[in-house]
Amino acid sequence: MEINFEELRRQMVEQQLIKRGIRDKKVISAFLKVPREKFVPESLKEYAYEDGPLSIGEGQTISQPYIVALMTESLKLNGNEKVLEIGTGSGYQSAILAEIGCDVYSVERIEKLAKRAEKILKELNYNVKIKIGDGTLGWEEYSPFDRIIVTAAAPSIPENLISQLSEKDGRLIIPVGDRFIQDLILVIKRQDIIEKLNLGGCQFVPLIGKEGWKE
Ligand code: SAM
Repeated sequence: MEINFEELRRQMVEQQLIKRGIRDKKVISAFLKVPREKFVPESLKEYAYEDGPLSIGEGQTISQPYIVALMTESLKLNGNEKVLEIGTGSGYQSAILAEIGCDVYSVERIEKLAKRAEKILKELNYNVKIKIGDGTLGWEEYSPFDRIIVTAAAPSIPENLISQLSEKDGRLIIPVGDRFIQDLILVIKRQDIIEKLNLGGCQFVPLIGKEGWKE
């Protein structure tokens, strides 16, 4: 029997996002449009709208829909921001940001994942610039960024990312903690004032790099 992905997507938005408090209309509308099933491995397509992360190979994951929505909502996007993502993974988070209208730059350290995400995003007509490398160094060439989203867990907030964040209400969201459990930290930058807010617990794969964990 053919799976009705559109219906599964609508149910995921209702039950996993709206019921848990996601309110931003741009975020909700992007989640209703982006076909998550295209970003998960072929063998896991039927689970694409389940309430949890899924394996994408190379020991990495596509994050739980609710966490992607919560992090995206915390960025308070109008849809015209330049956004840097660290940890392209499947490309799903990039697609959500691009669907909202953002100018998206994404860095992934594993070449195979970066290439796969690039191909899917292109097929779906999302214009996302992808670089293979260590995202803890940011992407200096295109800085400053209005928003930065880190989708892997860091031991502390990389200095490079703070310095590449815009001083005009720049927002950075990042999981910070140990290798297994973290807190989602929202950083707001106004001139040289840095405010940090804890949005609660989460679990991400480690951010590996110069300002992250060792391999
Ligand atoms: N945002 C992704 C998505 O929508 O599918 C999920 C990302 S997954 C939870 C974390 C990703 O961060 C992995 O693909 C991992 O290879 C990548 N990663 C870890 N350390 C990195 C680093 N220093 N620079 C860039 N990517 C990194």
